Amino acid sequence: MKKPKKTNLKVMKKAVSTEKIIVSGIVQGVGFRPTVWRIAQTLQLQGDVSNTGDGVVIHVKGSQQKINQFVQRIISYKPPLARIDNIERSDLISTYSFFESFTILASTKTSINTGVMADAATCKACFTEIFDTNNHRFQYPFTNCTHCGPRLSIIRNIPYDREQTSMANFLLCERCNDEYTTESNRRFHAQPNACINCGPQCSLVDKFGNKIAIENAISDVAQYLLAGKIIAIKGIGGFHLAALASNQQAVSTLRQRKCRPSKPFALMAKDSCMVEKYCLLLKNEKALLESPAAPIILLLKKKQQKKENKKLANNIAADQNTLGFMLPNSPLHHLLLNSIDEPIILTSANISHEPPCISNDTALDKLKDIADFFLLHNRDIENRVDDSVIRFINGAPQFLRRARGYAPQSIVLSSEFNEAPQILALGADIKNTFCLLKNGQAIISQHMGDLENYATYCDFRHNLTLYQRLFQHQPEHIAVDAHPEYSANKTGSEIALNQAVPLHTIQHHHAHIASCLAENNYRLNDKAVLGIVLDGLGYGEDKTLWGGEFLHANYEKSNRLAFFKPVALIGGTVAIKQPWRNLYAQLSTCLGWKWVKKHYNQTTLVNLLAEKPLKTLDAMLDKNINCPLTSSVGRLFDAVAAAVGLCFEHIEYEGQAAIALENKITKKAWKKAHFNFYPFSVSQGIVDSSPMWKALLKDISNAVSTADISAKFHKGLSLIIQDQTDELTKKHTIETVVLSGGVFQNKTLFEDVYNGLTTSGLCVLSHRHVSANDGGISLGQAVIVAARLIKENESKRE
Ligand SMILES: [Zn+2]
Ligand SMILES: [Zn+2]
Repeated sequence: MKKPKKTNLKVMKKAVSTEKIIVSGIVQGVGFRPTVWRIAQTLQLQGDVSNTGDGVVIHVKGSQQKINQFVQRIISYKPPLARIDNIERSDLISTYSFFESFTILASTKTSINTGVMADAATCKACFTEIFDTNNHRFQYPFTNCTHCGPRLSIIRNIPYDREQTSMANFLLCERCNDEYTTESNRRFHAQPNACINCGPQCSLVDKFGNKIAIENAISDVAQYLLAGKIIAIKGIGGFHLAALASNQQAVSTLRQRKCRPSKPFALMAKDSCMVEKYCLLLKNEKALLESPAAPIILLLKKKQQKKENKKLANNIAADQNTLGFMLPNSPLHHLLLNSIDEPIILTSANISHEPPCISNDTALDKLKDIADFFLLHNRDIENRVDDSVIRFINGAPQFLRRARGYAPQSIVLSSEFNEAPQILALGADIKNTFCLLKNGQAIISQHMGDLENYATYCDFRHNLTLYQRLFQHQPEHIAVDAHPEYSANKTGSEIALNQAVPLHTIQHHHAHIASCLAENNYRLNDKAVLGIVLDGLGYGEDKTLWGGEFLHANYEKSNRLAFFKPVALIGGTVAIKQPWRNLYAQLSTCLGWKWVKKHYNQTTLVNLLAEKPLKTLDAMLDKNINCPLTSSVGRLFDAVAAAVGLCFEHIEYEGQAAIALENKITKKAWKKAHFNFYPFSVSQGIVDSSPMWKALLKDISNAVSTADISAKFHKGLSLIIQDQTDELTKKHTIETVVLSGGVFQNKTLFEDVYNGLTTSGLCVLSHRHVSANDGGISLGQAVIVAARLIKENESKRE
């Protein structure tokens, strides 16, 4: 979050001062005016507050000391969902007519951009109400207020008014309407405001859609879950599938029905105390878990658990040292978790690679063979918003997936970007997001997933139209990846053609670096950095696939200084799913298969590979059929994992092999690896893994533990990256290094590289607000085009 700019605290002797204060940022539709009003009341100031197109405008009269205090308190006590980007103060000399007291002025609807907010988890006040037997919202699952509730998931159009959301069908009852229209009320202009008399209702149905319960729907679901049933539950941004986390059989059934053998499931717990029974929870992690965004956080499993704790099934996240936990993000979830009083699995309700279901009908149709019962409700989900996933690395949060609770929050760019035209960047095909650049702000969509899937692609088109409408965005330039086959690129070309605007292709890894620069507010004219980008695959300038790059880059351009030795991806995309192919390619390229066979004939690894159709593979390599070269470090991880028998045959999800490999490292092994790690060599800017493979094979044949092998690999890789960085930064007088790409979501590698480089005096930038993986690409594309256009304009003016 950006800190507000310092305000000019004026020192004036005048007894009574008058000021005009403009607060900009996320300040509308979040209960900002009532907060300002309350602060003014306590300080006994005169004046008024109103919403305008520029933000919240305050006219205030009082002693200078009190006005200063007033501004400080606005900063300190801003409403939970507000974000102050700037406060502008000026003297009010004109004969402004002040009221006797402090007033909230009605807003002129037309000029106001109330903004579109992210969905926010239930606030404390609403939480108290739903558990208060004396409150008329007792146990009402759709309770919300200005400080919480659904936003992006229910909006159809702007301005953000009830009629433009899926709450349009629910007419406010008298009591709710009073709240809605009373300025000092917590529900003043809370668009989804509702109560049991006028708002949405839950219903429990069986898999044929027959109604089973309405009044006790949630407590019935609790009973079914406790009895081992699988329930599809309609949440804020989509359906989830729920099962009791302590029930091994239920979890197995869910895995079987969902055809998801091993990918970890996310969990929901009633509160942080419950999470702490199973995981280590640091202060920052707890704060984020309990924040309005309420993301899933990957937390370190506790090795020892108290006996009185319900034991969690061991097939939730087998072979992982973390569990993904979230807290309830709506009253419905609070009520459910409170009735169950133990963690449940809550995983996105989708089949195969499709996006999660959002409508009741689709859920009943697509999930009928997975869920036993359905907890539905009649508030439509207009826009699909998946759960966000975060992992703390080096004590700071890093996004694995940025969606619910964050999108469509904008990212404020360095001020030079204010000059940029409106740009639409379409991102990468995997972990797709898109980005709208306008008025110096970048609006990044929620994570949508893999565009290869048709349903996801449809979601992408839906959101594209929605965002352009919500943010009144008319692209003057379009940015796409350089990959010739990305669906996002075809869409980009199509839009560019239809709207007759220029199309720009941006290199994938340059975009990774630029996204990191942008979110760190790196200035447009600051010195070029060394960007180290390690990821799966991205289309390179030389038409090979890159993924292990050292680029000298700024916003405008990048220059490849060094990279990992390219190795064939035998069979193309098949090799992404089958780690053994990468192992064979690495060994053939680095050491030669004959040599490996000759020296390590007795190893399991050689025996397993020998069973594969190696002759065909060799022929493909010889004739260069479907064997694109790649410098990908992601694939190197796959190969090393396969070598030690992890995910040898195939992987179920991206990064699985690398995660499995990292998880094998023990504290002891890591300590030892500081003195004994695998060597890499470098020649003319090409990092060669051959010495690493030689040492690794020797360890395998000597039955060295997987923990040690993994640790030695991670440490060796980290050190060669640091050595290379040291050499390149000296040679090119670079002071700042950027770490980006999905491989840096590896905690061990990231922390070791980051700490090593920082210790050696370099400034290291990493991702905090967007994902290090391809989810961040769209932001990078947008700022690169912006930078080039701004520079072009500057040179024209000269
Ligand atoms: Zn609330
Ligand atoms: Zn009502």
